[in-house]
Amino acid sequence: IQWEKQVRTSAQIHRSGGISVLVTGATGFVGSHVSLALRKRGDGVVGLDNFNNYYDPSLKRARRSLLSSRGIFVVEGDLNDAKLLAKLFDVVAFTHVMHLAAQAGVRYALENPQSYVHSNIAGLVNLLETCKSANPQPAIVWASSSSVYGLNEKVPFSESDRTDQPASLYAATKKAGEEITHTYNHIYGLAITGLRFFTVYGPWGRPDMAYFSFTRNILQGKPITIYRGKNRVDLARDFTYIDDIVKGCLGSLDSSGKSTGSGGKKRGSAPYRIFNLGNTSPVTVPILVDILEKHLKVKAKRNFVEMPGNGDVPFTHANISSARKEFGYKPTTDLETGLRKFVRWYLSYYGYNTKAKLVH
Ligand code: NAD
Repeated sequence: IQWEKQVRTSAQIHRSGGISVLVTGATGFVGSHVSLALRKRGDGVVGLDNFNNYYDPSLKRARRSLLSSRGIFVVEGDLNDAKLLAKLFDVVAFTHVMHLAAQAGVRYALENPQSYVHSNIAGLVNLLETCKSANPQPAIVWASSSSVYGLNEKVPFSESDRTDQPASLYAATKKAGEEITHTYNHIYGLAITGLRFFTVYGPWGRPDMAYFSFTRNILQGKPITIYRGKNRVDLARDFTYIDDIVKGCLGSLDSSGKSTGSGGKKRGSAPYRIFNLGNTSPVTVPILVDILEKHLKVKAKRNFVEMPGNGDVPFTHANISSARKEFGYKPTTDLETGLRKFVRWYLSYYGYNTKAKLVH
């Protein structure tokens, strides 16, 4: 009863024309930012997260405290728990699902391939099964990934480019997710939007990502490993600042249209869409390190290694004209500015003073 009450209160909408959103992966990096932004504009938000230990769960708990201080309740549970999902949809008639829970990271797939199948395939299907039976059926926006472009060499990447050369199991599960969601759109009339995020970074980020672990190592005086492609070509990424991604998520939610089925039956034709959300200006990894050194005022010990071919792709670069046309997506934060904000957050979160000295 207490649980139901918390879920109901959290789902309450505080603006006219607002939406009620189930955010999966709510205590993850992107999920926590999106939840806060939805709440800030007066939408109803309920989170779901299994608090797994892929990376330091204390960071997830800290994000949960932040969410909770803004009145957002996060249910602790797994996407694969059908009973729990059904109960959530019994308690709240969610208009939208923002599906951000996943097993992320490309290299971890070498260690634990099953976790990708569990969350990105089985968990996704379980969520879609719940949504197809819900009344009303929610519109779904979910995170795919730029990794679906794999070893595609034509840049910038457009949504219609080939996605048949995944370089990692992670990429393969995201590509599979696109096919699976398309099928649910077709058979059950669910409105689906897939967002291909390009290397998202910023405050409260993911400790397994390069910019984050580089920062940690630089501050601790430890060497950092920088991968290079064949012939010593630098890897490049279309680094995209979290606030820009959040705007893209909200824009796509607002333009996502309505599901047209009900109770598992298709009634009309609901939209199925895929968009790139990137920054359109790739930066090489050594330049990323230059910027970190500048903001941290500490020199990095660089260790260059040839890319071992275990999941990384040489470069990413988004064409974002579809998202711009459809919902006015326009990233505004360059890497220099975004990393300054990340570093400021990092220093304060981990107890450094402004001169990057630990204070205890
Ligand atoms: P994250 O790992 O910080 O967040 C994912 C959250 O989902 C975590 O809190 C985790 O505990 C939760 N989760 C995982 N499996 C779950 C399950 N089975 N049931 C319930 N909760 C589960 O990752 P993120 O960077 O915030 O990524 C969000 C989404 O965006 C993911 O789908 C990711 O694949 C995608 N994406 C991220 C990036 C990026 O650069 N951060 C790039 C492309 C795509």
